[in-house]
Amino acid sequence: MTSNATPLIEFKGVNKWYASNGYHVLRDVNLQFAKGEKVVICGPSGSGKSTLIRCINALEEYQEGTLTVDGTVLGDDLKGIDKVRREVGMVFQQFNLFPHLTVLENLILSPTWVAKMPRKEAIEKAMVQLERVRIVEHAHKYPLQLSGGQQQRVAIARALCLTPKIMLFDEPTSALDPEMIKEVLDVMIELTSQGMTMLCVTHEMGFAKAVADRVIFMDQGQVVEQAPPQQFFDSPQTDRAQDFLSKIL
Ligand code: ADP
Ligand code: MG
Repeated sequence: MTSNATPLIEFKGVNKWYASNGYHVLRDVNLQFAKGEKVVICGPSGSGKSTLIRCINALEEYQEGTLTVDGTVLGDDLKGIDKVRREVGMVFQQFNLFPHLTVLENLILSPTWVAKMPRKEAIEKAMVQLERVRIVEHAHKYPLQLSGGQQQRVAIARALCLTPKIMLFDEPTSALDPEMIKEVLDVMIELTSQGMTMLCVTHEMGFAKAVADRVIFMDQGQVVEQAPPQQFFDSPQTDRAQDFLSKIL
């Protein structure tokens, strides 16, 4: 990222506590993401990775600091939150598809209801995205008739239907059988070649090495290290990162 470019996403001194138990989950997070950047976020379970990326599309609130997404400061302004949600697509570990809707119906739901797109246009766009994730032949099936890898590719296509500027992935391959991981990663790698800004929580280090501009390592709610993948994997600077890597590599 050039130093004078305005970041697409910026965390400035962000702190978050969970209201239910007072847990201090994000501790003074300062991060910038440039347009088009691909970033992998890793760290031990419970370190705050999901919370961090959920803040970016306002699925979570924060209490201190400033989080700016594409020029909008996320706070109490509901209009701003709507704008940001339209620009940010998210893919979850558990796919979160509607089981009683076909693949195609899952894809056109938000475009027709939220974005008020005419149905015919929504279907055309959905079919393009299903081509992109190579699943077009299953458009009229129900999610549970598909494998996990296919369902996750449908979830990716669904997020793409709203033409997001930013895609967030939260451990997209963690719930998949090993033989299905590659087909999902391949689709994600293809997206990176199309200039999409991508933040991905994953422990797939091969993916990180292949596509990430930067790896962020979190522990106990803090950003502990960030470096290009080669540098992070070959010479982690902190004991915490070394310890983490020794467990996953
Ligand atoms: P990660 O994705 O790195 O595993 P999370 O962001 O899911 O971490 O969670 C970080 C910490 O916050 C965990 O200790 C978790 O128990 C806690 N936490 C997550 N969600 C909530 C919640 N809704 N209420 C209270 N604590 C939570
Ligand atoms: Mg998580």
